[in-house]
Amino acid sequence: MLDCAAPMAAQILDGKSLAASIRADLRERVAALVQRGVRPGLAVVLAGDDAASRVYVRNKTLAAAEIGVHSEQHEFKADVGEATLLQQIRALNENPLVHSILVQLPLPKHIDSARVLEAIAPAKDVDGFHEVNLGALLAGRPGVVPCTPAGVMRLIENAGVPLAGRHAVVLGRSNIVGKPVALLLLQKDASVTICHSKSKDLKAITKQADILVAAVGRAKLVTAEMVKPGACVIDVGINRLPDGKLAGDVDYEAVREVAGWITPVPGGVGPMTIAMLLENCFRAAARQKPAA
Ligand code: NAD
Repeated sequence: MLDCAAPMAAQILDGKSLAASIRADLRERVAALVQRGVRPGLAVVLAGDDAASRVYVRNKTLAAAEIGVHSEQHEFKADVGEATLLQQIRALNENPLVHSILVQLPLPKHIDSARVLEAIAPAKDVDGFHEVNLGALLAGRPGVVPCTPAGVMRLIENAGVPLAGRHAVVLGRSNIVGKPVALLLLQKDASVTICHSKSKDLKAITKQADILVAAVGRAKLVTAEMVKPGACVIDVGINRLPDGKLAGDVDYEAVREVAGWITPVPGGVGPMTIAMLLENCFRAAARQKPAA
């Protein structure tokens, strides 16, 4: 049991409003940075014609513009060569007006995504996917923290959910969500269990979780029977249902009757991901020296 009193019905962790307040704060901090001669610059590299990727990129660049970050887009056709992409990244690494570089995934299949991501200068790696940044996270040193995991932690901490000594269970072990979330929870002194597609008897494990983070990509995988009463349930999953609606990995309506805290989908982790991206943009620029 959590030793702080869990609410009777789950408290909804409203990522939309928390993200809005983070963005409002960033807008002021960006304005102050601009006064000092540095306007944060974000470059987005997009290859191919994946419709969802285009929507994501549009949302990110609009959000950047809203807080005063300059953004530029570098678009390539689906048959672009890897060498061309690498050349583009190198040019952006050298460009002093660009403090952050984002390569929208997935890249076309013939491109080695890992090689492209590794070409980004670690200080400009706004997504925190570069091995140098992932290594820093593992070692507990300062670096760029991936946006979705950072957003998950901000939601948990903002709600005052206790972490030290609590059992946190993370469903999913991807490099961009599951593993970094697990490391961040560990940094906050939680005892962490990571489950994945080969894990056996998921329910027996999730039932022990004071904090349960689902990052799998399977609609309603987490049912009410799998959740410990009073637990904090964070739903990272985004799944498109046959009727076109969005659903998380958690059976929201049923689980909210059992959990102490829960994130909705949409309106939970999703908006926090963009807010953390903007925060990473700001930080990358703030590290730069003002123009002479
Ligand atoms: P991924 O496909 O890379 O990884 C999924 C993970 O789930 C794998 O590690 C796999 O082992 C595990 N898994 C599969 N079946 C399982 C099962 N039955 N039980 C336990 N684990 C199982 O996905 P990802 O990139 O980590 O994303 C996960 C989900 O989060 C997706 O729905 C994605 O759309 C969503 N996502 C949301 C945001 C956001 O901003 N809200 C950001 C990134 C990803």
